[in-house]
Amino acid sequence: MQPDYMSILRRHGFTFSKAKGQNFIINPGVCPRMAALSGADKNSGVLEIGPGAGALTRALADVAGKVVAVEIDARLLPVLEETLAGLENVTVIQGDILQLDLQTLLQEQFGDMPVHVCANLPYYITSPILMRLLESKLPLASITVMAQKEAADRLCAPMGTRECGAVTAAVEYYAEARQLFRVSRGSFFPAPKVDSAVLQLTPRPAPPVDLPDEAHFFRVIRAAFAQRRKTAANALSAGLSIEKSVILAAMEHAGIAPEARAENLTLEDYAGLARALML
Ligand code: SAM
Repeated sequence: MQPDYMSILRRHGFTFSKAKGQNFIINPGVCPRMAALSGADKNSGVLEIGPGAGALTRALADVAGKVVAVEIDARLLPVLEETLAGLENVTVIQGDILQLDLQTLLQEQFGDMPVHVCANLPYYITSPILMRLLESKLPLASITVMAQKEAADRLCAPMGTRECGAVTAAVEYYAEARQLFRVSRGSFFPAPKVDSAVLQLTPRPAPPVDLPDEAHFFRVIRAAFAQRRKTAANALSAGLSIEKSVILAAMEHAGIAPEARAENLTLEDYAGLARALML
């Protein structure tokens, strides 16, 4: 029997915080579907970010060997104690996913188990969370998350297309991304203004481009997208404080047209440009 999450929340006097991105799943089909696609099984663990009232946590506990759920909002701890009662493979940790030492947490909680991430993310920090998970090079088997549809489109867009952004480049560098299914706004309470989508990132064993300096590569990408309406040459000159003639020479060296914009360049183009700018 599934707990009646809404009446338990009501009984605890819980009020939803917009600032914490609290839109809880109320469509009963969504959580089991996410859990089934998360890649987790009884020999692996799941790190969940923001369990809320515990609907996805319960579905994950059904398929995984162990679930560790990190929730920032202390008001939800007594709620979770009730909704997750009797589930022995679930641990709830109160904390901010952007502040915790995830390397240590994973080691302490999961040891040598393969670990998947599965979450209905707080939308206001979708990109920072994904960037943190990817950049910290945690040994994650996969990352399956709900995001706003527009963010999911951007995160999964191929480089060189209109939808892509600086975060797309980072995702493509670290992982393979694909959208799994769409979720309507009415599947949440309170209902957000837009629909959502579940996407999956599978970390790559090795980066798809060769780089002498990752930090420099990402500085170049951020500078190009910071003023995406300008040509890449103008945006890079302004963002990196480098003479435009030097940028144009590097672009020519990397085989990039002088009038190209940030969104026209592939990951390979950015790698070539970053290398040329280091010469
Ligand atoms: N998993 C629940 C569900 O699907 O119904 C809730 C999802 S809700 C979109 C996002 C959850 O993340 C909320 O419970 C919120 O309190 C929590 N949260 C927000 N910021 C957080 C952070 N920095 N670290 C951990 N949890 C956070």
